[in-house]
Amino acid sequence: MALDPEIEVKWKIEKEQTRDSLREVKLALCRCLEKHSPPNRGKHDYIGYVKPLGFPQSAVVCGRCGAQGVVWLDDDEVNLYRKGQRIFSGPNAFTKIKVDDNGVIIPNNQQGDKNANT
Ligand SMILES: [Zn+2]
Repeated sequence: MALDPEIEVKWKIEKEQTRDSLREVKLALCRCLEKHSPPNRGKHDYIGYVKPLGFPQSAVVCGRCGAQGVVWLDDDEVNLYRKGQRIFSGPNAFTKIKVDDNGVIIPNNQQGDKNANT
């Protein structure tokens, strides 16, 4: 028996909305500076990175190759960092990463942001 078309449409819309809301979740990402920075995840813009506590001897490594990693943040996360947040979450609940107090490093900063590296 076929699904009621109305229910099917509703179900498809809900599925799309779930997918969209997942895409909008802000999540830090750990990548090495050598090969996998800056990370590129579609419309999710990572604007700068911070170093994990203990870098370069930290236990945090690139999610793609296993080399020493830094933590990339989007603009919202950079604001949180500047407000004092030092623990960031990745795309799942496996772990969170604690970062140091040395500031956000924003490569190729062309906007003249005075606070770019603070
Ligand atoms: Zn890497």
